[in-house]
Amino acid sequence: MGAAVLAVYLLFPAGIPRDVVYALVGLSSVATILVGIRLHRPDRPAAWYLMALGQLSWVTGDLLFGWYADVLHVSPFPSPADACYLAAYPVIGGAVLVLIRSRQRQLDLPGLIDSAIVTIGLGLLSWLVIAGPIVQSADPAFTRLVGVAYPVGDILLLALLVRLVTVPGARSASFRLLGSAVAMLMLADVAYAAISAYADYDSGVFDLLWLASYVLWGTAALHPSMRSLSAPAAGEPAPFTRRRLAALGLAVLIAPGALAVQLAFSLSVQGWPVVVASVALFSLVVARMHLAIREVVTAGRKRNQLQQELAHQAAYDSLTGLANRAHVLGLIEAALHRAQRSGSELALLALDLDGFKMVNDTFGHQAGDEVLRAVAGRMRSVVRVGDTVGRLAGDEFVILVEPLEGTSQLLELAERLITAVSTPIRVGDRDVTVGVSIGAAISSDGSTDADALLHHADAATYRAKAAGRGRVELFDESLRRQLDEQADTENAIRAGLTAGEFVLHYQPVISLSTGRVQGYEALVRWHRPGHGLVPPDDFIPIAEQSTLICDLDRWVLDEATGQLARWRREDPEAGELTVAVNISGRHLASPGVVDDVVSALTRSGLPASALVVEITETVLVDRLSIADRLVELRRLGVEISIDDFGTGYTSIGQLQHLSVDTLKIDKSFLNSSDGGSSELVRLMINAAHAFGLKVVAEGIEDAGQLEQLRTLDCDSGQGYLFARPRPVADLPSAAELSPDVLPA
Ligand code: C2E
Ligand code: MG
Ligand code: MG
Repeated sequence: MGAAVLAVYLLFPAGIPRDVVYALVGLSSVATILVGIRLHRPDRPAAWYLMALGQLSWVTGDLLFGWYADVLHVSPFPSPADACYLAAYPVIGGAVLVLIRSRQRQLDLPGLIDSAIVTIGLGLLSWLVIAGPIVQSADPAFTRLVGVAYPVGDILLLALLVRLVTVPGARSASFRLLGSAVAMLMLADVAYAAISAYADYDSGVFDLLWLASYVLWGTAALHPSMRSLSAPAAGEPAPFTRRRLAALGLAVLIAPGALAVQLAFSLSVQGWPVVVASVALFSLVVARMHLAIREVVTAGRKRNQLQQELAHQAAYDSLTGLANRAHVLGLIEAALHRAQRSGSELALLALDLDGFKMVNDTFGHQAGDEVLRAVAGRMRSVVRVGDTVGRLAGDEFVILVEPLEGTSQLLELAERLITAVSTPIRVGDRDVTVGVSIGAAISSDGSTDADALLHHADAATYRAKAAGRGRVELFDESLRRQLDEQADTENAIRAGLTAGEFVLHYQPVISLSTGRVQGYEALVRWHRPGHGLVPPDDFIPIAEQSTLICDLDRWVLDEATGQLARWRREDPEAGELTVAVNISGRHLASPGVVDDVVSALTRSGLPASALVVEITETVLVDRLSIADRLVELRRLGVEISIDDFGTGYTSIGQLQHLSVDTLKIDKSFLNSSDGGSSELVRLMINAAHAFGLKVVAEGIEDAGQLEQLRTLDCDSGQGYLFARPRPVADLPSAAELSPDVLPA
């Protein structure tokens, strides 16, 4: 509406009609601001009330001015209209100040200086063009004073406007509208003053600018974003942008520029204002420079400090202060290069704590951390100066011994380490004891790389653990052969997967209450050329050394779900059957496992409820990270079964916290002649039922075991008594499944 009025404003005849329209637009702006306040309830209503008041003062001035001009046909100067106009400046200025203060909570000295520089530059210009001629005119002092008050008011308002737009904060629609309104007002003031100072030119054109300012102001108040106009800016002060630099440069150049223009056009030179402004500008620029330099220096210091901290963090373990994996591998690599050049020997000890997990589980992680710190300190105190101790992960450490002075000395060092580590550690008010198994690998000419050397030392540690812990083993020919064999097997598995050498055998799972087959467990076998049919225990552990196991598991998942889907299609009786697939801990800990399960289900078209995922209990105990995966899988609707239950360290009480559906009692409990075993089985079944889990007994080999399990209320069973695992073609039909041992 305001724009429409503006468009036709000049069509109104000059004089009273125009004055009325003018006053109406002004009043509408006041009214709109009040409406905006009621409508949007801004954070700082005071700012808006002040604006309304200031505008009201202007409108009053307009009315008085019109009264004198059109009714009394005089134009006195100064007049009461000027009092109204001038009174509005401090009020509007106060409003802008309220906004600035609430947008910028803390002192921003550089920003203040920047705005002051721009203001002084523009102020000088305005002084030279507008105020100067007024001051120098022959008018009476009061008239000159009032005349000068206008440009001075404009300059102060300009200062506030510059400050408002340079303070960081949201540039909302309301903010832009308000900024434009104030800018438009000043533009009109300055243009009018500048032109009327030199010529007697008065048309309605200036009115348009003032009217536009009123309209913009009202619109700013109506826009919903006015509510948060005073919201403080989050974070850093405004950056020193190129635009700001250009504005400052221009502002500073105004003083010499003005002088140049005065000289060039032989105008009367107003030297003093230029001098005063220049002094002020130079002082501000110097102050600004000082601040900027200080900022740069502080930032540089902070950055250096940060860089040092980062470099340290990147290279050292924060818990023990030892070199971390990446750093220690780099050091080993460098040592190998040196050894190669000098032909000297070096050695690597890989240390793995014994019984550390127990400490963590029994006494908590804090105690575990303290043990790691203590152990690290002892290792450091035992090695020679110059040898490096590093922490690879968890409770795995390495020691780089360089140069090596003979194998016997190395073994002595290892023995000293074992003694040092196994001395009881005081944690809180108790003594904790851990042990350490050590593997040693020697590089005699530096020709291996760090990874290989570490791998060798690890292999030796593994043997030390297997040989009874708390001892040292040296990487030797037999270990090398074993590693080579492992590598061969790994390659053969990889090739066998693509060549289709793997097959699944299926073993039925029988419901002990109905005697019917409820599903099958898929068990993998390998037709390895030259080796016959290889059982899983001979190659799964090797595949588990790398992500190869994930490929193998994925193949099993696809094959088993595909087979079940075929059975379900071919045989209407098979509609309720499930298939159980064993998933290795390593695969389960990998991020892709859920996707693998989902894609196997999608490809086969089976519902998630048809799939049982078996994980061994030891996996559950070792890895905390898999807990989330289990929850995800269960959410899909897949059944989770704990395999080989009873062989790990899960206490029966922990069962309620695990995200699983089924417990599979390990076969060792059935086949044991130990009398306590059957008591344990009873306990496990009762506990599982109490926590809402189903129980499967595996390894049922004779009718006696079956009978006992049925009296104990075990849900399902699996074992040679019913059927051995067989390839699909040889699977026994339901009728063949020993009906005599399965009384209906
Ligand atoms: P598991 O999952 O506990 O499988 C049960 C094992 O017990 C199978 O050995 C099965 O043949 C055997 N078994 C079944 N009934 C009887 C019985 O009445 N008496 C006795 N003494 N043994 C019985 P298998 O097939 O040699 O598998 C050994 C282990 O290899 C499995 O133990 C499982 O942990 C792992 N495994 C098998 N297939 C896969 C697979 O596809 N992926 C993964 N990651 N692991 C697999
Ligand atoms: Mg299993
Ligand atoms: Mg088992």
